[in-house]
Amino acid sequence: MTTETAPPDLVDQITERATDVRRRIAEAADRAGRDAEAVTLVAVTKTHPLETVRAAIAAGLRDLGENRVQELVDKSDAIPGEADGGDVRWHLIGSLQRNKARDAAARADLFHALDSVRLAKALEKKAADAGRVLPVLVQVNISGEDAKHGVEPEDAYDLLQTAAERGHLRPVGLMGMAAIAEDDDDLERVVRPAFRTLRQLYEGSPIPLSVLSMGMSGDYEVAVEEGATHVRVGSALFGPR
Ligand SMILES: *Cc1c(COP(=O)(O)O)cnc(C)c1O
Repeated sequence: MTTETAPPDLVDQITERATDVRRRIAEAADRAGRDAEAVTLVAVTKTHPLETVRAAIAAGLRDLGENRVQELVDKSDAIPGEADGGDVRWHLIGSLQRNKARDAAARADLFHALDSVRLAKALEKKAADAGRVLPVLVQVNISGEDAKHGVEPEDAYDLLQTAAERGHLRPVGLMGMAAIAEDDDDLERVVRPAFRTLRQLYEGSPIPLSVLSMGMSGDYEVAVEEGATHVRVGSALFGPR
């Protein structure tokens, strides 16, 4: 039903790009001796209209990412996620202000950007109001850049613990963003070590975790080589924004 209004040309184009991204993920997994099935491709549809989301679903993509909560609400009104009994998963991947906690707690199937105790408290309250348990990832600043969101690596476990102590949050993993790589040299010198740091945190976690969200259009292959379970890919699937 949701495919009804997806223009065929757009479906073809996205199918072609998704096939290419999936092939690259499989090759990266192979190089690392991993199973490509263990990697979830989150299609980042932010700023794109509903017809693009419908085309993505028609192209076989089931995990959809938005970085602004209002856009997630608008799109999930039309295309419900699992939280609303639908069969796609809406990932809220961007940082969240506490005054937007209600919609996030009610609508997101997975929230990737928990970055403070205060936000955890706000989400706990709103998830309780909504009568659901919200799966969350703690976002870690692995780029070393001040402007990037996320807790410092040494504070990640405390925030996971804080979330675990709340009845309506379920901490399931970690998320990180590396600095933007200008070239292959950057990928090796800057991006790979950042992803490795996040993976080590993930593996050493005192709380059992199952989601390691790292890698975007410019660096998802490195992320898969370094152990990502979720890559968040926008422009490689949908073109420039
Ligand atoms: C936009 C965005 C992405 C996807 O970026 P692309 O470079 O287009 O793949 C991934 N993660 C987050 C947090 C984003 O905001």
